[in-house]
Amino acid sequence: MLIKSVSQLIGHTPLIDLQIDVPNHSHIYAKLEMFNPGGSIKDRLGQYMIQDAINHGDVIEGTTTIIEPTAGNTGIGVALAAQQHHLPAILVVPEKFSFEKQQLMKALGAKLINTPSDQGIKGAIKEAYRLHEQTPDSFVPMQFKNPANPAAYYHTLAPELVKEIDGPIDAFVAGAGSGGTFAGIARYLKEQNPATRTIVVEPEGSILNGGPAHAHRTEGIGVEFIPPFFENVQIDQTLTISDADAFDQVKKMARTQGLFIGSSSGAALAASLKVAAQLPENSRIATVFPDSSERYMSENIYD
Ligand code: PMP
Repeated sequence: MLIKSVSQLIGHTPLIDLQIDVPNHSHIYAKLEMFNPGGSIKDRLGQYMIQDAINHGDVIEGTTTIIEPTAGNTGIGVALAAQQHHLPAILVVPEKFSFEKQQLMKALGAKLINTPSDQGIKGAIKEAYRLHEQTPDSFVPMQFKNPANPAAYYHTLAPELVKEIDGPIDAFVAGAGSGGTFAGIARYLKEQNPATRTIVVEPEGSILNGGPAHAHRTEGIGVEFIPPFFENVQIDQTLTISDADAFDQVKKMARTQGLFIGSSSGAALAASLKVAAQLPENSRIATVFPDSSERYMSENIYD
């Protein structure tokens, strides 16, 4: 394949029909989003949000500074898109998030600002808006409320799933951080086939199931507030997966399938297996593996 820019490598990721022991002889199909050039599902989002802002005249190519609060992968996606459009980027990241992701954002030419871990993503959001007020000709894509976030997945990943899976999709399972992936894909799939069950996944310490917020090791998913995108989408079930169960799947996938998946993918797989146990024989379950374990190596996840 001859390409002229890494932007051409965003999206159209492989879909794997996992050859593992799934309850009720069902199939789990997972989109391998680590094959995007920036290594995660969020390349789609960076590209889509920046292009959308350019189309609306909110960002001028070559001049506007992009400022975004992020747990990391969105930062890499935004940094990549900003670089491709010759835009300076400032990313605001809570200290606790992966060292590798922060290195990659810097490698792409973005400036990094760290906020205290104990202030969570809310602290990063506040700091991003403060910087925006101080920086003339700046734009905050704000993944946590920008409709371009779910739209990115509604228009790209969701149709890919429908095209690639050989038959009706009985269930869709995905984790939620900003909630964009889940909301965009769930909405598309329900429009195509109202019988598709939609299941959102969160780690313990996320608030969707009504529990108290606390720290967790599963990175990239878990919410401190209900994502606004969830207002317009049907959620049939919320599954809470422990860090231990998520990391157990991370290890199993490497050892048995040669797949280096991150912990949010491990949680999505653990949840998909639970869903398979609830559904009839030979069901088709679609899920998403957002990134690779390679960007969490410094956390000794395979020890
Ligand atoms: N997994 C990983 C590794 C992520 O970085 C993210 C984004 N924070 C997600 C899952 C969740 O995606 P979304 O923000 O679309 O809910």
